[in-house]
Amino acid sequence: MDDNRNTETSGSNNIERIFGENVFSPSTMRERLPKQVYQKVRKIIDEGGELSRGDADVVAKAMKDWAVERGATHFTHWFQPLTGITAEKHDAFITAPDEDGHTMAEFSGKELVMGEPDASSFPSGGLRSTFEARGYTTWDLTSPAFLKHSSAGYTLCIPTAFCSYTGEALDKKTPLLRSMEALNTQSLRLIRLFGDKTSRKVTPSVGAEQEYFLVDRDKYQKRPDLIFTGRTLFGAPAPKGQEMEDHYFGVIREGVGAYMKDLNEELWELGVPARTQHNEVAPCQHELAPIYENANVATDHNQIIMEAMKRVAIHHDMRCLLHEKPFACVNGSGKHNNWSLTTDTGINLLEPGDTPEDNVQFLLVLSCILKAVDVHADLLRQSASDVGNDFRLGENEAPPAIVSVFLGEQLEDVVKQLIETGNASKHIQGGVLRTGVSTLPDLKKDATDRNRTSPFAFTGNKFEFRMVGSADSIASANTVLNTIVAEAFSEVSGILEKADDFGGTVHDLIKKNLTEHRRIIFSGNGYSDTWIKEAARRGLPNIKSTIEAASALTTDSAVSLFACFGIFTKAELASREEITYETYAKTINIEALTMIDMAGRQILPACMHYSGRLATTINAMATAGVSTAAESGRLNEVATLINEADNALTNLRALDEQASHVEDVKKQAFFYKDSVNPAMGALRKPCDQLELLVDKAMWPFPTYEDILFNA
Ligand code: ADP
Ligand code: MG
Repeated sequence: MDDNRNTETSGSNNIERIFGENVFSPSTMRERLPKQVYQKVRKIIDEGGELSRGDADVVAKAMKDWAVERGATHFTHWFQPLTGITAEKHDAFITAPDEDGHTMAEFSGKELVMGEPDASSFPSGGLRSTFEARGYTTWDLTSPAFLKHSSAGYTLCIPTAFCSYTGEALDKKTPLLRSMEALNTQSLRLIRLFGDKTSRKVTPSVGAEQEYFLVDRDKYQKRPDLIFTGRTLFGAPAPKGQEMEDHYFGVIREGVGAYMKDLNEELWELGVPARTQHNEVAPCQHELAPIYENANVATDHNQIIMEAMKRVAIHHDMRCLLHEKPFACVNGSGKHNNWSLTTDTGINLLEPGDTPEDNVQFLLVLSCILKAVDVHADLLRQSASDVGNDFRLGENEAPPAIVSVFLGEQLEDVVKQLIETGNASKHIQGGVLRTGVSTLPDLKKDATDRNRTSPFAFTGNKFEFRMVGSADSIASANTVLNTIVAEAFSEVSGILEKADDFGGTVHDLIKKNLTEHRRIIFSGNGYSDTWIKEAARRGLPNIKSTIEAASALTTDSAVSLFACFGIFTKAELASREEITYETYAKTINIEALTMIDMAGRQILPACMHYSGRLATTINAMATAGVSTAAESGRLNEVATLINEADNALTNLRALDEQASHVEDVKKQAFFYKDSVNPAMGALRKPCDQLELLVDKAMWPFPTYEDILFNA
């Protein structure tokens, strides 16, 4: 990889030296830009606004010079279309050759600020048909440009937002940025009421813990299902699973350690603060957690992490699987989205304060979040859904599909006291709430009391939203979180701004929010059946699949919420709902076709070959007068399963064909879920049983045992 990486210096010095080396960071800008231009850029980063054309030219030149000095030949507007991954189209820094045949490395402010990729091949969910196919990418100054090093050399990547000709968002970044702005406005309103006159900005902080699997490249390449769908569509469980719990936090294998080292170094160079790494629960499963950053940069960095994980694996003759459920019967992968709210003066609004007044603000913020999560549970659930995550949520290894909040024993006790106190006037004395909670317990200590089954857990000074899938972008989850909390803040601020008795009104609001939304609090075992029943009794939604969750985007409540804060128009929401159905149908279709191919051309021929050989053996044995009881028994068993698999294959073919003719995209998605999915299961079952009966030497591809235990 990078040449200067070979000088092995150890420990933290090394990190300090390489960290951010490939980032056009604020400090690099300060060094390389004229002071005035730098100050303008800085102001836009902090407060928003637009750079003039002249200034953009200056920045573009400095950026290009910096990139070219480091070996870059190309630049790209790096964006996040609704495919969930990133997109890039590279252009060389090159001008048309002059008469002497010379060319120059050039890059203008215009090219920096705006790009015009053809949008027609990205999902637009109908927005495209009504408008032009043209899409625009615009530079996001708040996420630094970086140099990506791959086999294509060094490419200058400029983080951008991606919109249609008429300004509709076609990506994940645009709504996220809009939601951060809305939350900033509403948070400032709230903290001003509590006397904070100095903070100028409130930003959601996000740390996303990323789980992944690493498997051997050669084995991966022998499995069409892994290649085409990212998960195994067949496979009997290995004799050993994760029941011994010997992998979690276990010693990291040498090969994996070398991978992690390269991955970390690449991420550090890209300015990604990768911090924690460990083995996860399942064999071959690992986790990487960076230090938290603002939600926009954290989202971009999570994309960079996922991309680097895949790229670095190739250099180590491995493949990185980011799918939520690559293997049946062992844990899948998720992404814990840790979220808090921080002022530019360094105050975390989710941190209980030292004074009673601070604590009152904390309790109001907390009550607002509970309300937001309860009122918009369906949207939060939707924001964490993707096709692969359907295998995970509610499957006793990840949070259930029911959204609830875990507060921890102490905080729950505080909530109980607050709900049970009388009206405010009796309980306010000298501006302090007399609720028994004028000083809050040290909640950080309490955070060690963990509930791994909760989808939304308070962990001392942040919330951990645990539903997001490992392959998914964290943008949607944070967009929804930011927006619903902005709404709750806006409602209480509206009331408080008009209140004569501030203290009493705050108390009433806290109590009202907590009382009305207490049902969302749950500290028990989220995996238990009793919780499913209890949640139904409480009226909490239990949305089982991605496509059932999709309609949450266009309910009246969602449309008015997003319109009110300028996050999404109704058309943008409808387009996102439609893309969900489209993506679902396409994904299941690919999976079905892959199964048809593997069963038809690999599994059944191998099984038939085996049964043919058995038959020949039986004939020879019978001729020799030897008993063939065992052989005949095996042959019968195998023949029966082959027959079952063959019928299931025919059925799956027919249903997949039928699905392709369903016109309405929503109906089509549901047809895939309700008809094609079960047919896939019906084909898998006899095939997995056959795997356990057929001569291993004849099995056409590596098994779970080969992949997970002989890596
Ligand atoms: P835990 O053990 O509670 O999961 P860690 O300290 O390992 O906590 O952090 C997990 C993730 O949460 C990391 O990415 C970390 O940077 C992030 N995190 C820590 N504090 C905050 C915070 N205040 N806001 C957002 N994310 C945070
Ligand atoms: Mg955690």
